[in-house]
Amino acid sequence: MAQIQLEIITPQAIVLEETVDEVILPGSAGEIGVLPGHLPLMTTLGSGRLIAISAAGQRKFAVHGGFAEILPDKVVILTGAGESVDDIDLSRAKEALERAERAIKAAETKPEDESVAELHRAALERARARILIAEEGE
Ligand code: ATP
Repeated sequence: MAQIQLEIITPQAIVLEETVDEVILPGSAGEIGVLPGHLPLMTTLGSGRLIAISAAGQRKFAVHGGFAEILPDKVVILTGAGESVDDIDLSRAKEALERAERAIKAAETKPEDESVAELHRAALERARARILIAEEGE
């Protein structure tokens, strides 16, 4: 049966290189499901959940921004950070969420530069994705 070679690459490491049957990835415009034979496509990624599905089961990863290159037999994820469920430190993510929420709230009364506001929103999205995946488990 046709399969997909999945690679998840961050600036720090190759997080995953595996042959799988299906990939569900967090495109910035919404979730994309990829089966073998998918038409070639490049997409930007949001912060969210990537699911790698194979006969052995499914594995979930938090991925944070970047790009996905989708080919009929290959999916390459180039992302800012990527963590498996086991790698996620839930209390660290909860602290990061609180920090980002505090910063966004503070900016309501003391407006900040749009680029700084964008960093806080991105941190909030990263923390939310990590919490969702860690709490959900495999
Ligand atoms: P924090 O404020 O806690 O550092 P962050 O969202 O700013 O969170 P990133 O810049 O996305 O962190 O990631 C920096 C590095 O730390 C990456 O290697 C990422 O995988 C790792 N990392 C960040 N948060 C967590 C977490 N909660 N659990 C595991 N690894 C994490």
